[in-house]
Amino acid sequence: MKTIYLDNNATTAVDPAVLDAMMPFLTTDYGNASSMHAFGGRLRHNIDQAREQVAALLHCCPEEIVFTSGGTEGDITAINSALLAQPEKHHIITSRVEHPAVRTTCRMMQKRGNRLTELPVDELGRLNLHQLEAALTDDTALVTIMWANNETGVVFPIQDIAELCRAKGVQFHSDSVQAVGKLPVNLRKTPIDLLSMSGHKLHAPKGIGALYIRKGTPLAPLMTGGHQEFGKRAGTENIAGIVALGKACELAQKDLSGENERIRRLRDRLERTLLRDCPDARLNGDPDNRLPNTANISFEFIEGEAILLLMDEKGICASSGSACTSGSLEPSHVLRAMGVPFTAVHGSIRFSLSRFTADEEIDTVCRELPPIIKRLRQLSPFSPKDRAPGAPVERPEQIRL
Ligand SMILES: *Cc1c(COP(=O)(O)O)cnc(C)c1O
Repeated sequence: MKTIYLDNNATTAVDPAVLDAMMPFLTTDYGNASSMHAFGGRLRHNIDQAREQVAALLHCCPEEIVFTSGGTEGDITAINSALLAQPEKHHIITSRVEHPAVRTTCRMMQKRGNRLTELPVDELGRLNLHQLEAALTDDTALVTIMWANNETGVVFPIQDIAELCRAKGVQFHSDSVQAVGKLPVNLRKTPIDLLSMSGHKLHAPKGIGALYIRKGTPLAPLMTGGHQEFGKRAGTENIAGIVALGKACELAQKDLSGENERIRRLRDRLERTLLRDCPDARLNGDPDNRLPNTANISFEFIEGEAILLLMDEKGICASSGSACTSGSLEPSHVLRAMGVPFTAVHGSIRFSLSRFTADEEIDTVCRELPPIIKRLRQLSPFSPKDRAPGAPVERPEQIRL
């Protein structure tokens, strides 16, 4: 049975061209780029080239790119640095729907004595910019808000947020792990100070990423030691990873508009079919401002885990916004922040596509999933079985795991 992989917001397949590009640095060219001898030292050129490829995708200068171990490190570096490099400021503003890398780090900074504002979102997952503006003070060290949400795909108005922060003289960091490679990013036009991205969300391997640091933004390094990466990130360079990230950025840039339109059409077809053929299914997140590859759908009154298990039997991979699969006991903080009812949070499934998703795979999911939902509904003690189609949903007061 062939695997149908619709979990690309969790991680992506390494592109064969990316693997080809990185292979020499895992085999013959194993030198250290900081060495005096030519065997190592000539690899500096490959790092420089990768830095240019990343900068080309983001429309910034190569010197503004620092390679990291991934999105998490970039996020933590940015938050940590904003407080350390501006010791007179003690306030962070973020949103309630951030990735755990940002959310947990901000909460840790709060425990250490800083003030934290977590901005709410509305039922479509949208921010209110007046609330952001009202929260900004002279004490604010950093605003950190993601570009696109990993669970729902909702895209925040980053241009407006960046301009607002710039006007108030406050550093702005954006976790852009889900945006880079899926949306156009132009850092000449968008005044973001710090931006994190990750290789394995755009067809490079896990364990490589980059942090963009706008010229003039003070940076207190997280990783201290050697002089690598302009003294902003110590540690022997992961050359194979760096070359892979460069190649992945080159491929993403080549494909950006055409490929994402194809993915959007597949996603829309999947979404339309499931909403049509599965009763009590609802879409989560702003339908008008979303990543082209993401659909988050709640199948009310059934458990996401059960859906995932039955899909897995058909070789279909997706993920759920409910509990145990994500390794935590809490249902999705993103869907809860949007006020999605418990009955719908627990039955939420995230489908995320990529450039390797084929038409026939979407056909298969459209065919296989509705009977699975029907079967589970018949087993569900909460499902309103004798309700006429289209009649209003009566939700049990509260359903907990
Ligand atoms: C995956 C992801 C991260 C973490 O990136 P890693 O490279 O896995 O550390 C951070 N933020 C968002 C939005 C993500 O989707």
